[in-house]
Amino acid sequence: MDWMALAGRALEGVPPSAEESLRLLRAADVETSAIVAAAHALRQRYFGNTVKINFLVNIKSGICPEDCHYCSQSKVSKAPIDKYNLLSGQDIVSAALRGHEYGARRVCIVASGRGPSGADVAHIAAAVREVRDTLPDAEICACLGLLEPAQATELREAGVFAYNHNLNTSEAHYGEICSTHTYADRVETVGVVKDAGLSPCSGALFGMGESDEDIVQVAQELRRVGVDSIPVNFLIPIPGTPLADRWSLTPWKCLRILSLMRLTNPDREIRIAGGREHHLRSLQSMGLLVANSIFIGDYLTAKGQRPEDDVAMIRDLGFEILGEARGDTRPSSVGAIALKSRAERLAPATEGPIGTSEDCHVASMARRNGDRL
Ligand code: SF4
Repeated sequence: MDWMALAGRALEGVPPSAEESLRLLRAADVETSAIVAAAHALRQRYFGNTVKINFLVNIKSGICPEDCHYCSQSKVSKAPIDKYNLLSGQDIVSAALRGHEYGARRVCIVASGRGPSGADVAHIAAAVREVRDTLPDAEICACLGLLEPAQATELREAGVFAYNHNLNTSEAHYGEICSTHTYADRVETVGVVKDAGLSPCSGALFGMGESDEDIVQVAQELRRVGVDSIPVNFLIPIPGTPLADRWSLTPWKCLRILSLMRLTNPDREIRIAGGREHHLRSLQSMGLLVANSIFIGDYLTAKGQRPEDDVAMIRDLGFEILGEARGDTRPSSVGAIALKSRAERLAPATEGPIGTSEDCHVASMARRNGDRL
């Protein structure tokens, strides 16, 4: 298949058909770099060399009455996570500022639960006003569950820019992962968000036992619904959740999923979200050839890669972090350059495991002679 021709058609507004999408998902691993190259051409067209960094703030954890099977915070999860009610306004503001220090352009304020109460929205709106006073350029995204129109308006008026509510999977597969709310509920909330003038952010979670047809359907549905940004999550099978034993993805399959998202939604922000460390592994940087955005730091209840490693990966790719002042281009994960001592140079390489050369005869002589060998 001519993947670059598929990208050319996507540029003209024609997304891959369902049949082409299935062929893409089922392509051989050796063919995947050509698929990534086609998706990369679209990424470059719309986002150039830029990467947007996002930072999650978990303002309410656990204690959720819903039963989303993938989620460690659900009522059916036995995962030993931190559980707490809404953070104070000051804690929300401090966490948002920390995200900004990591270089995050977008700060995502996330609360567990089916949806917020009126008091929750008023509390969060007050904290958002304070964050916006300090960081007028930050994009604030809220993710609070199912939303009423008046609540969406209140959040927008407080300075919330975007609202996240993921479709997660196809309509056909939704009943397999949740029974306490429906796919239609989720689509409706995305509509409420759009109607209120918030930027709609909605994505999916893969590796939950969905078929390739389900993946194609959710990619096409996100296009149809018309969202601005698409987080692509890969299941973190957290022990204690009903999906703890699912492990079906490979790094190449993840890259094909990301590429399908890009080819179907060429000019939308594609964000690599939870699970990239586990499923893309050493191919994480290839993911950024397709996606233009990542989360930095920890996820809601799972640890993420060190922020300095993410920044190093972005810089190694030659990309530019949106909103970052230009200047020092050295990745922060690279420490001071240390020169080897003469004793280390002379130490025989066969003297034991790496790092123990100071115990060798030559090195101990060097120590005695003050490194004058
Ligand atoms: S509604 Fe949100 S917090 Fe609650 S179980 Fe589902 S995903 Fe988790």
